Amino acid sequence: MEQTRINVTRSSMPSYEEYCAEIKELWESRWLTNMGAKHKQFETALKAYLDTPHITLYTNGHLALEGALSAMNFPAGGEVITTPFTFASTTHAIARTGLVPVFCDIEPVHYTMDVTKIESLITEKTCAIVPVHVYGNLCDVEAIEAIARRHGLKVIYDAAHAFGVTYQGVSSANFGDASMYSFHATKVFNTIEGGAVTYRDEALGPVLDDKKNFGLHTPEDGRYIGTNAKMNEFQAAMGLCNLRHLDEEIEKRGRAVQRYRERLGAVKGITLCPEQPHVKPNYAYFPVLFDGQTYTRDAVFEALQAHGIVARKYFYPLINGLDCYKEYETAGTEKTPVAQRVAANILTLPLFADLTVDMVDRICDIILD
Ligand SMILES: *Cc1c(COP(=O)(O)O)cnc(C)c1O
Repeated sequence: MEQTRINVTRSSMPSYEEYCAEIKELWESRWLTNMGAKHKQFETALKAYLDTPHITLYTNGHLALEGALSAMNFPAGGEVITTPFTFASTTHAIARTGLVPVFCDIEPVHYTMDVTKIESLITEKTCAIVPVHVYGNLCDVEAIEAIARRHGLKVIYDAAHAFGVTYQGVSSANFGDASMYSFHATKVFNTIEGGAVTYRDEALGPVLDDKKNFGLHTPEDGRYIGTNAKMNEFQAAMGLCNLRHLDEEIEKRGRAVQRYRERLGAVKGITLCPEQPHVKPNYAYFPVLFDGQTYTRDAVFEALQAHGIVARKYFYPLINGLDCYKEYETAGTEKTPVAQRVAANILTLPLFADLTVDMVDRICDIILD
């Protein structure tokens, strides 16, 4: 039997008919972007789903994070404590906003920022902490909140992976001063491309709204040197459709994860992320850490590839080792040894709603072989 290729992810989509019905009105209104009816409707739907009072939508998650950082008005050259174990977007958003990324190491169990190492990195220039809920694993939000309070720092979460995740029933959208979500095609919930910022202080709303629309408060009131980061109506329509099916999609992902855990959970040389207590997960990714002896990451990656299965070295390389940060005094992967070890040995396995138990078994058979 011909074995089908399995990619690391497969975008969730509504039926063709459902999407067409959703966008039909756009042919009547001819209002395609600039905060139209779908945009408003989607904003309302997201506030309800994320159980959060304030949200601003963006054309992608990266510009959402830049928007949040820019709206906080930090002094140029201010330092932002962040993690190197993330996608380049997190760090680029900090640097592109005129701020300096300072890299904090991660803890070895869920790979989020090691909260015991934050305070030693704080200087008089520190203005914010930008932690990442990596793979949908929530950061130690309570410890981060306490540190931020003690030192008068803002906290902006990169929650790109944590859509729909809750801790003790509280939505991930309600931690810190702001949280950024990505609705990119590869994420648990997508609007093709898209993103959002949720935030605590209502006063931030008009600033975010203006800044994503060229900084124009009105056509004649240019308040900020803004950008163009608006979500269009077709994206919002995709979001409205996908949101209807999200809980079911997450449940299906959960079944695949359960099978992976059954097959790989007790294998010597393989470490999985344990479930977090009091956290409702979204099964965004399935990271597997290899010990480098019984199993080496690159060998597993290549064996899967040879069988038409695409896993991802996510995240590798570390951001503090990228060429573009070479000039930064704060760069250097040796300063974050836990992240360095994890990045060298981790692989995320294919995971999407339509991944069947048979497919999971095929993947696990190859790894265990
Ligand atoms: C996807 C992602 C982003 C960027 O989001 P886009 O919507 O693709 O711009 C930022 N941070 C992390 C951790 C991501 O995974």
